[in-house]
Amino acid sequence: MSDATPRETIFSGIQPSGELHLGNYLGAIRNWVALQSSYRCFYCIVDYHAITQAFEPSEMARRVRDMAGDLIACGIDPAQSTLFVQSAVPEHTELAWVLASVTSYGELGRMTQFKDKSEKSPDNINAGLFTYPVLQAADILVYKATKVPVGEDQRQHLELAREIVRRFNTRFGDTFPEPEALYSSTPKILGLDGQAKMSKSLGNTISLREDDEAVWNKLRTAATDPARVRRTDAGDPDKCNVFSLHRFFTTEERQAEVRKGCTSASIGCIECKKWLLEGIKADLERIRARRAELLSKPDAIDEILADGARRARKVAAATMAVVRERLGLPRMPGPAG
Ligand code: SF4
Repeated sequence: MSDATPRETIFSGIQPSGELHLGNYLGAIRNWVALQSSYRCFYCIVDYHAITQAFEPSEMARRVRDMAGDLIACGIDPAQSTLFVQSAVPEHTELAWVLASVTSYGELGRMTQFKDKSEKSPDNINAGLFTYPVLQAADILVYKATKVPVGEDQRQHLELAREIVRRFNTRFGDTFPEPEALYSSTPKILGLDGQAKMSKSLGNTISLREDDEAVWNKLRTAATDPARVRRTDAGDPDKCNVFSLHRFFTTEERQAEVRKGCTSASIGCIECKKWLLEGIKADLERIRARRAELLSKPDAIDEILADGARRARKVAAATMAVVRERLGLPRMPGPAG
């Protein structure tokens, strides 16, 4: 694909968690899909990041393939974006080693995600977890990405990546652009408990693959405005997580109807949730249909990922050739010559 004006480059990654849930879809993937037409997008399934936490090797290939299938079903177009797996492009880890040499131990120790993950898994505080932000910086910089769609929780890592760029460029010459965050306007998606961010590990999610009955069973018991204890109590939709999901899945007319009915206690929460279910069902049915179509061609996903890796590698190898030259390392044969 060629453009008269070169488009800015975006990089974003997602771990092969097995399956996407509504929080991923609303908070990140819908945004990825929207960005495809305006940017040159590299979307990566970051399996090397995933191995820094406990995992089952026999499940990894399936997790990666499932994530690719979900992303494509949600609207990532492999003809428009480069969709690939991190471990298929060895330049990511190669550049990470180089960048680690301009990153200080103290900086990595200050990363709050490292502290949080270490507290959660005290038996598995490995060096990969510690240097995770350096690999993240390499993921971005190997494509010279200038924009990175991130959530607020990634702000610190992106700031570190920018610091790494400044240090590398000062020491070895202007090589990388400073990547900027592209914050989504989507507010944080709370889980069905209405308390914490939607997260698979907290069990407060709806998976994109759940059938209508399973979705309803979860929705039926989802937290609402805590002040609305009885059916006759008026509620406040702005204090209700169910209403925040309505904003994504139902029409403005329906939302106005909910607001009126909730604040006057003329509708019950079950009725309100049934309306939401109809909206969610329509979206999930479309995603499930696309996914089933993909899975009907067994090798299709593998071929898409192999093609994505070839395209990504061409760019990554060219960057590494420059990096090696700047570092005074011997010239290596490879796709970039
Ligand atoms: Fe929430 Fe709807 Fe119940 Fe109001 S009626 S509290 S918006 S679930």
